[in-house]
Amino acid sequence: MFETGTGVGGTWYWNRYPGARFNSESWTYGYSFSQELLDEWNWEEHFAGQPETERYLNYVADKFDLRRDIRLKSRVTAAHYQEETRSWDLTMEDGRRYRTRLLITAAGVLSAATMPRIAGVGTFLGQSCHTHYWPKPVSFQGKRVAVIGTGATGVQTITEVAKTAGHLTVFQRTPQCCAPLHNAKIGKDEMSRIRGNNPEIFARCQETYGCFIHATDPRATHEVTQEEREAFWEKLCGAPGFGIWMGNFRGILVDRAANKLISDFLARKIRQRVKDPAVAEKLIPKNHGFGTRRVPLESGFYEVYNQPDVKPVDISETPIDRITPTGIKTSDCEYEFDLIVYATGFDAITGAFDRIDIRGVGGVSLKDKWRDGPQTFLGILVDGFPNMLMVMGPHAGLGNFPRALEYTADWVTGLIRFAHGRALTRVEATAASAVAWTEHVIESSEGLLFTEVDSWMTGISRNVDGKQVRRIMRYSGGHPAFRKRCDAVTADGYRELTLD
Ligand code: NAP
Repeated sequence: MFETGTGVGGTWYWNRYPGARFNSESWTYGYSFSQELLDEWNWEEHFAGQPETERYLNYVADKFDLRRDIRLKSRVTAAHYQEETRSWDLTMEDGRRYRTRLLITAAGVLSAATMPRIAGVGTFLGQSCHTHYWPKPVSFQGKRVAVIGTGATGVQTITEVAKTAGHLTVFQRTPQCCAPLHNAKIGKDEMSRIRGNNPEIFARCQETYGCFIHATDPRATHEVTQEEREAFWEKLCGAPGFGIWMGNFRGILVDRAANKLISDFLARKIRQRVKDPAVAEKLIPKNHGFGTRRVPLESGFYEVYNQPDVKPVDISETPIDRITPTGIKTSDCEYEFDLIVYATGFDAITGAFDRIDIRGVGGVSLKDKWRDGPQTFLGILVDGFPNMLMVMGPHAGLGNFPRALEYTADWVTGLIRFAHGRALTRVEATAASAVAWTEHVIESSEGLLFTEVDSWMTGISRNVDGKQVRRIMRYSGGHPAFRKRCDAVTADGYRELTLD
């Protein structure tokens, strides 16, 4: 196993920016495969912060003696399939080379961070960092800080930085509709109760659309009275986690009128919390409805804008001209800063693949093959790329990741066992199965409002060439349907694959 970082933990190793924490309930996020692990680990918070999660993942690595199989500080730059040997040749950044029969990718959906394409980035003489590459604990005490970006990462960062910065300026291009997280500590007794419920918790996560603990309410928005609707939304807003997004009325992410109602409800909440009405209006999304982009969960984000030392700058009105040696110049003003934080997101889903020169049969590049959008079978296999298996690749369902990826990891393991058991040396998706799955993935998104919105979930990264056009990047049929399809492939003896 190759890992670029100097430690294990993936997302939770890299993203150590201030305020980084789960938006999934901790006790739904841990691994479920080991009863011993479940018995031993006590979550401290319902939504664990990055340090706790990184500790957990290190604990897992130690407990299962995984470190001996992990090569840290090892970036794979190329992976080329060799037909003669039916193997993959890997080249590392430092020139090391490896040969492997099977290539399993687990390079992450949100791991290829992107700096903004703004002139002068790199000329700033103060401290600057992308949230994904957060260096060490950084002090904001008394400093003039800028944050660019207001996605889920920006929202967490801004809330935390505002606590100690001398002055904070937030450069916002698109506001997001956030909802309260309602984090809390977990006491000893509560942890025991949670542990006792583990089987039910994991079973419930398997039943829901996105593997979260929150299941869609079977009622449609218009099936209840206005009073019932508002009472339900008040309840969801007062409850922890993604209930407001994942446990809302059915159809809210499809039905324009229903989406407008919940968007208006949450806009009212923002207006109640932000004292300056002009600022509140700036924080309310106007070009997309609630839940059509990934909903950031927040802990006091809106109140930050009531602080006299926090200034929002709407860069859709006054765009950033350039980063200067002393700060940021917009079309109407020049700002000076000690520290600039780039919370500018990722080249999501296919970005980590694109950064490796992956070549399949006949030297075909995966990046080229996916130029107009990914084509996969089950989000796990790609025709023309034999013996490559993707864990949480494009066209897999997104959601509560560990719950989803445990299934995929087991499915991949099952296929490897099957291949070993029959001395197969070549496993590949057929072109027909990849076309059929890709069509199904596209169909599964039809009618969903998120497909009409620019975001990483629709393959948009304005900071990356060739990623300005919306594409269907993930499976939207829900995890139960995904598992059913994968199980059917297994039950049928993998006849939809080419096995040799
Ligand atoms: P993001 O949602 O893509 O947000 C990036 C932000 O940077 C957006 O506000 C974007 O504006 C802005 N931006 C990008 N390039 C810019 C430029 N050149 N000039 C000005 N602004 C620019 O990225 P993210 O916030 O890192 O979150 C990505 C995903 O990571 C989340 O959606 C979530 O799935 C995951 N995440 C999870 C957690 C958690 O579970 N606890 C926490 C953080 C992140 P536009 O919107 O206008 O493009």
